[in-house]
Parts: sequence; C-alpha cells; structure tokens
Amino acid sequence: MADQPNDRRRQARRAQALRGFHRNDAIVAPDSDTIAAIATAPGKGGIGIVRVSGRDLRPLITGILGKFPEPRKAIRSKFLDSGGEGLDEGLAIYFVGPASYTGQDSLELHGHGGPVVVQMVLERCLELGARPAQPGEFTQRAFLNDKLDLAQAEAVADLIDAATTLSARSAMRSLSGEFSRVIESLVAQLIELRMLVEATLDFPEEDIEPADRSQSVARLEKLSMETTRALERGRRGSILRSGLNVVIAGRPNMGKSSLLNALAGEDLAIVTAIPGATRDAIRQAIQIEGVPLNIIDTAGLRDTADEVEVLGIGRTWEMIERADAALLIVEAGRGVLPEDEVILSRLPAGIARIVVHNKLDLTTDEACRETEGENQVVRLSAKTGQGLNLLRAALLEIAGWQPGSEDVFMARTRHLDALVRAAGHLDNAAEVASQIELFAEELRLAQAELSSITGEFAADDLLGEIFSRFCIGK
Ligand code: GDP
Repeated sequence: MADQPNDRRRQARRAQALRGFHRNDAIVAPDSDTIAAIATAPGKGGIGIVRVSGRDLRPLITGILGKFPEPRKAIRSKFLDSGGEGLDEGLAIYFVGPASYTGQDSLELHGHGGPVVVQMVLERCLELGARPAQPGEFTQRAFLNDKLDLAQAEAVADLIDAATTLSARSAMRSLSGEFSRVIESLVAQLIELRMLVEATLDFPEEDIEPADRSQSVARLEKLSMETTRALERGRRGSILRSGLNVVIAGRPNMGKSSLLNALAGEDLAIVTAIPGATRDAIRQAIQIEGVPLNIIDTAGLRDTADEVEVLGIGRTWEMIERADAALLIVEAGRGVLPEDEVILSRLPAGIARIVVHNKLDLTTDEACRETEGENQVVRLSAKTGQGLNLLRAALLEIAGWQPGSEDVFMARTRHLDALVRAAGHLDNAAEVASQIELFAEELRLAQAELSSITGEFAADDLLGEIFSRFCIGK
C-alpha cells in the first residue's frame, strides 16, 4: 500500500511518455534521443561545460574521447574532431543511467571557457548523433525518470533565478524536497481518509457507525488545518520569488536616488539598473532583509510628443499598474505640494502608498512613522540614515513578511492556486459530511489538486510551460 502513490506516479509518467511529443509529425518518446547543450553561461569563462544525455552514449563517447572512461571518474582527455584531431582538452565525466541527474547515461565535458571552442565541442556532439537540447530538457528528463518531482524541478529554476541569498536558501529547501514532503504528507492523509470513507460507501447510510463518522470528521479537520498552514507558508514565501514591486515617485532633487542607495545599504554592489531597449522604465533590484524589491522609477514620466519616449512611458505605467506599493518622496519641512498630489492621484487605487518626508536632518523633527488618511507617512533622512529602518519595516509589512519567516516555501502561483482549490474542496467536504458519496468526491478532488503540485498528474502543456522557462543546458 505504501508504494501505491509512487507506482501511480510512475504509471502516469509512463502514459505521458507514451503519448510522446510531436516532432516533425512523428511521435517520439520524449527521452529516446540524445540531447546536448552548453551548460555554462555564454561568454568567456574559466571553463565551459558541454552536457550530453541519452539512453546509450557509448558510440558518442568513443567518438569524442577516443576511449571509454570509468563511470563517475573525472578523466583528463582530448575532445576529438572527426579526423581524430583535438578540438580542446579538459575533464570528461561519464555517468551511467539511472545514477545521473537525468536518470539516463550522461556525459559532461569540461573544456576551456571560450565561446568558439565550447561551440565546436557541442557541434562535434551533434555530429555524433545528438540534437540540441531544448530549454530545461535535462531537468525535464530528470522529472520523467523520477529523479525529482515537479515542485523540485521548479525549484531548480527558482534557485538559478534567485535574486537574494534568502530566496536561494528557500529554493534550495524546496529542491531538497521539503515542500514536496509536506504536500505528500497531505496526500497520504487524504488517501487514508478516502480509504476509510470508501470502505463505507457500499453500506446503507444508517449502518455507518457514528464513531467512523466522527473519526472522518476529525481527520478532515486536521487535514484542512495543515493545508491552510502550507498555504500560509507558501503565500509568505512567494514574495521571495517574485519580489515586491515598488514604484518610486517624486519631483527632481527630492532625494530618490539617495534613498534607493541608502535602502540598498551594504548590498549596493547588487543594485543593478536594468534599462530597457529604449528610454524605458528603469527598474532597480534591491533587497531588504533578503526580500527582493523591484524598484520602478517614474523619473521619466512626463508629457512628451516623442514617439519612442511615449512607448517607454506606456511601459512604465503598465508596471505601475501591477505594483504592490508606491513611495512618494517629498522634502521634510515643505511636505506634499500640488504637483505631488497630481502624482498621487495618478497611482492605481488599490496600491499601498507611503509618503516619505526626506531630508529630515535639515529640520528639527524626529524620525517617525504614522498614518495620514489612506497614506502611511515616514519621516527620515537618506543622508544620515535616521528613520530608514521605519521605511524598511513598512515595506516588509506590505510584502507580508515577518522577521523570522525562515520556514516559508518559495511557492509559485501554480502551487498557491492548487492549495487554495484543495482547501476549498476540503471545506466543501466538511459541509456535505453526512452525504457520504459527495464527501468522497470532494476528497478525491482535493487529492487531485494537491497531486498536481508534485506533478503526479501533470498535463503536457503544463510541463511545456514550466520547462520552456529554464535556460538551455539545465
Ligand atoms: P533625486 O533627483 O530625487 O534622485 O535626488 P538625489 O538623490 O539626486 O538628491 C538630490 C540632492 O539632495 C543631492 O544633493 C543629495 O545629496 C541631497 N539629499 C538627498 N537626500 C538627502 C537628505 O536626507 N538630507 C540632505 N541634507 N540632503 C539630501
């Protein structure tokens, strides 16, 4: 019985594999051919790695190394062209499936990290029968071969994309299966409850013992509570993945740049300006206590007839529409002027607003945080740093982040949606607890939702969507 979920998962994947992917109108099982890709980032580097995965790599390995290495042992070797001449020289490591990342035979060639030489080694692999890998295809094979579940595969991409050390640690916890184990425990409890309930389905309602009923209800309550808890942990953690989008507005010289730099503090080195292709919105990434913040600067928002500039401004407004919070910077002592009111009135209605009175050091006022109407007000000095922590705290509050939230899951929207739907079915089940067939059906639906998180019954288009966002070579 204990193996049942695993068996079912395997069967579901096999069915998926059999359905196959359509390539050139032929149906090919998704892992039957050999794939190769450059796994290191583009550009020059100390080493460049070409990675290969397939069901049987022996011919390819003999072709490129001229010999056959012992599995899992790094050997130094030339990487040979078709005439037997060395294209490069480096380390080669061969893994025999299923003991590899993808679960298939795999080869890693660690050569010199020049873009041309790495490309030549890749092309040699293609010449020997491999085809270029799609984005995320190595990890997709790992998923199809049961090396990791879907939530773990997503964590691989999240770890690579992590913008702060806290995000990276959280993604790593998901990758090592912490999130999946919580979901699997919920699924296991649901299966037990369903077995209990379904065993009574064949009996007339009046023959079911009251003790059985109350046991089911108690189990359901526990399940609901644990599902809600997992959802809370996921909701709090999701901010680590997407970051809090903050618009920063204010007239010139109010100290916007100074404030950003002060907020970024010691992490100044990771502050990056991401200018768009044209005169676009400027987005800066900073972090507060490990929570990523995407700062959208409205400096370029002005009336203009320049078509290109109008496009950039349009994009800035799109980003503002999706923002979580807005900071309006004004000068302490002078306060909010009519021009600032115009800016405030153009911000989306639902967005959290903080009016920052900067340059407090030029006045005799104390730093403080208070509420004025719909707006929060923070008085501070970007120059001296007084009051800066009040602003940090206000932003973290808007992000829903509490200090010590280290046990969160870096959940994706897909996971949160599934957890919400599962919790809904559990609530429905509680309402129809006296109608055993409806009760059983709601439990089945809740289980299906939870199982979709780890990918037990994932649809092809969902897999395509998830893996297409990976980088090539991962
Ligand atoms: P921005 O145009 O809004 O980005 O403003 P800047 O950050 O470039 O600052 C404009 C001027 O105000 C600069 O000379 C800053 O040194 C000064 N400034 C910024 N913040 C403070 C502050 O808290 N106190 C004082 N005294 N000067 C500040």
